[in-house]
Amino acid sequence: MCYLQRGNDVKLLVAKSAGFCFGVKRAMDLALEAARKDPKRLHTLGPLIHNPQAVEYLENLGVKVKERVEDVPGGTVIFRSHGVSLQDLKKARRRRLRIIDATCPMVKRAQRFAKFLHRHGYALMIVGDADHPEVEAIRSYIDEKVHVVGGVESAGRLGPWEKLGVIAQTTQSSGLFREVVASVLERSKEVRVFNTICQATTIRQKEAIDIARKVDCMVVVGGYNSGNTQRLASICKEVQPRTYHIEKAGDLRSRWLTGRKRVGLTAGASTPHWIIKDVEAELQRLKDSKS
Ligand code: SF4
Repeated sequence: MCYLQRGNDVKLLVAKSAGFCFGVKRAMDLALEAARKDPKRLHTLGPLIHNPQAVEYLENLGVKVKERVEDVPGGTVIFRSHGVSLQDLKKARRRRLRIIDATCPMVKRAQRFAKFLHRHGYALMIVGDADHPEVEAIRSYIDEKVHVVGGVESAGRLGPWEKLGVIAQTTQSSGLFREVVASVLERSKEVRVFNTICQATTIRQKEAIDIARKVDCMVVVGGYNSGNTQRLASICKEVQPRTYHIEKAGDLRSRWLTGRKRVGLTAGASTPHWIIKDVEAELQRLKDSKS
């Protein structure tokens, strides 16, 4: 599950699941391949992944970020792993842009379940962040009101329901999803649930909790704007209050290791391997300097 580095008094436990998931890796590979073939007039709709260092790397290869389809001057547009709204898809087609669709298959699966529930007359509830692009995209395919809830409290303000369908943002915490489902069951005649949390997220969260339980300081690496990294850090914090969310090696503080015997390290799904390696090396250097 993880490996333990020995050497000095401080031990470092690194999560095997840290870093790019299958969907993010696929999106990066598609963008890199496109940049290699023809970097001219290559754009992503929004940052390809929620990691500023990786986005900068792509920009240096010629992949430009545009926030709106209207801003793409022509050429190719890459849809990121979070998916794209129906409106943006239509606009891109109307403008005859070449489309590279890097939407993660797990996100497409969540979109399919949302459409299925809607088609079969269920009111739709998504457990997730209302302003996350993945959730915005899922909502756009349903032409009626979609209820997005961040937890039991907001779910409790809604209902009662005759027929309710519940799905989750793919990177949602499994514990929170279970709590919301249990709470809506009490106020509904019929509830249909599709667990759309992707396996990569479930494995990463389980491993992170497992490591956080064994250490006395936990470091979670990933973009400050990355929802899945923020969630990972908050899950770890529940188990280990000395959890620190950092973006890069330079954000580490040596005082965090003072008096610590075991340090855990994990990273969000959009964190590049090289950043994790940098953080690992810096942790190693800091712990060596303390021994
Ligand atoms: S976290 Fe899961 S759903 Fe999101 S891109 Fe990665 S594999 Fe796909």
